[in-house]
Amino acid sequence: MSDKKIKAPAIGIDLGTTYSCVAVWRHNRAEIIPNDHGHHTTPSYVAFTETDRLIGDAAKNLAATNPSNTVYDAKRLIGRRFRDLSIQSDAKLWPFKVVSGRGDEPLILVTYKGEERKFVAEEISAMVLTKMKETAEGFLGLTVKDAVITVPAYFNDSQRQATKDAGTIAGLNVLRIIVEPTAAAIAYGLEINFNDSAAKKNVLIFDLGGGTFDVSLLTMQNNVFQVKAVAGDTHLGGQDFDNKMVNYCVQEFKRKHKKDASVDPRAMARLRASCEKGKRNLSFTSEITIEIDCLYDGIDFDHKITRAKFEELNIDLFRKCIEAVEGCLNDAKMDKKSIHDVVLVGGSTRIPKVQQMLQDFFDGKELCKSIHPDEAVASGAAIQAAILTGQCSHEEVHDIVLCEVTPLSLGVQVKGGDMNVIIPRNTPIPTKKEEQFMTCADDQTVALIQVFEGERARTMYNNLLGKFELTGIPPAPRGVPKITISFDIDYDGILNVSAEDQTTGNKRNMTIINNKGRLSTEEIERMVQEAEHFKVEDEQHRRKAKAKDALENRVYNMESKINRDKNFVSKLTYSEQRKIELAIEQANEWLESNELAGEDEFKDKLEELKSTCDPIIAKMYSSTAGPATKLDEVD
Ligand code: ADP
Ligand code: MG
Repeated sequence: MSDKKIKAPAIGIDLGTTYSCVAVWRHNRAEIIPNDHGHHTTPSYVAFTETDRLIGDAAKNLAATNPSNTVYDAKRLIGRRFRDLSIQSDAKLWPFKVVSGRGDEPLILVTYKGEERKFVAEEISAMVLTKMKETAEGFLGLTVKDAVITVPAYFNDSQRQATKDAGTIAGLNVLRIIVEPTAAAIAYGLEINFNDSAAKKNVLIFDLGGGTFDVSLLTMQNNVFQVKAVAGDTHLGGQDFDNKMVNYCVQEFKRKHKKDASVDPRAMARLRASCEKGKRNLSFTSEITIEIDCLYDGIDFDHKITRAKFEELNIDLFRKCIEAVEGCLNDAKMDKKSIHDVVLVGGSTRIPKVQQMLQDFFDGKELCKSIHPDEAVASGAAIQAAILTGQCSHEEVHDIVLCEVTPLSLGVQVKGGDMNVIIPRNTPIPTKKEEQFMTCADDQTVALIQVFEGERARTMYNNLLGKFELTGIPPAPRGVPKITISFDIDYDGILNVSAEDQTTGNKRNMTIINNKGRLSTEEIERMVQEAEHFKVEDEQHRRKAKAKDALENRVYNMESKINRDKNFVSKLTYSEQRKIELAIEQANEWLESNELAGEDEFKDKLEELKSTCDPIIAKMYSSTAGPATKLDEVD
């Protein structure tokens, strides 16, 4: 192929609640791409300031100083409704504001450049994805378009669709959404050369990250990855462990000082950052100290936390993880003895107590830690991206087949608001199921088909995916007209529902994917434009920062020469020295009152300073016949 050289490879992105990671298939392996800080994972954080929008490490560093405008956890908001209980309880802990939009979608409220702005979760996630895209572009030196993005296995239909929308807003062509544990399993499979033997392997992927917990049971055989069952919690992970520690510290502070630090978002953000750090260390040491100067009301906080205390605070959450493993085995109708490998994925699987409880549950079986817990998901996504675009000639990889299951039961509402399940949870996809229904009233001519997903018996507690009417049913006593409803899911997880009146042959159908996306095509288009606009603004800001830096450096260098370089000063006449001093003074004053000036103004000011200083310096060097080197190149 002639255009092979210019076309960028497709990338794999693990869009995590707390950290994201990007990888690409190159040189016959999945390579993790480091970000501009040299880190393999990038915080899924976006910060808005008076002058700037920051993404990743730079944003997370602002969490304590600019808490109300530093946004994280977009993954906990994406594809959900504002009134969801989980959002209501999260909102109490977030230092940024979340309000309800017109369609009950959560909106994140921030102040950016002095103005109030509202963003949906898709837009914030799109910003993180843009950062990952740019990271890859910088690394590859090419414009990246195609990507595979991962989501937790427990994500429902609207959360998956919303994630895909976020990719579109970021200017990506989302080849496929795959689930994180499957991605991890692919990376693991490659690591252990799974297709060396044709024997079937049952693998349990235990992924405990920052915000979500996923457990998946897969079988691997001859390149076929078959998900047997998934379980987990979209709201369980490292941040919950952090929160337990934070709450404990707040209580301790209250007990000691009779003051409630939780009313101060800045104090809470500092405490949270400190607790996360302490928690990480507790995986390797038995005691840490949370130490914060002037935490609240001028009072310092200083408190020791042992690993045992940390475990006690979180034991209920750890137990929940083990229960989910048990549930997953039950769903797959498998005994724990039949599991060949238990694979650890996600940053929080470094916690010794979690490892111990899991190992105990599997009767002392060794856990597999051979794959990198932070990178496996992105690696698997990159492998899948390479397979889908035909970029992968690696013989072990190119014919990998993924078989996934429905994460939630799908059904229709029947009389009395009950949920009638047509495709149960954990059914392998693609799949097609049919069921016959009757009318429930005499002479009923219209049947309303309402499609739901969820595990509750009453549809009011489940998630409505879409609805349509089947009209023109010939009047007849109730129970006589027969309607066949069929559910058809393709391998992308897209559901098509149809209803057919058996007597007339009258048929209607709908594809859920077109109806359930929370954002309309127009809204996505608008957000794509806005994302572009942000990119331009960011670029302008970067250029401006560079120009400002150049001026500040020049002023600083001249100042040091004048104040500290006696040799330099001795070669100046008094009036020359005054001229330079005055120019420095003016530049400093100007800098102080022109914080918000534009790129050109900084450049002009630098020229002005140079025009005063450079001729003097040039003259000085030529008169002393010294080397004609430039004094200090700062541009
Ligand atoms: P996600 O994919 O959900 O964003 P990750 O898998 O990247 O999450 O894991 C991030 C979480 O792992 C964070 O909550 C972080 O505090 C936690 N973590 C990282 N290292 C350790 C450690 N050494 N001990 C305990 N937790 C850790
Ligand atoms: Mg993760």
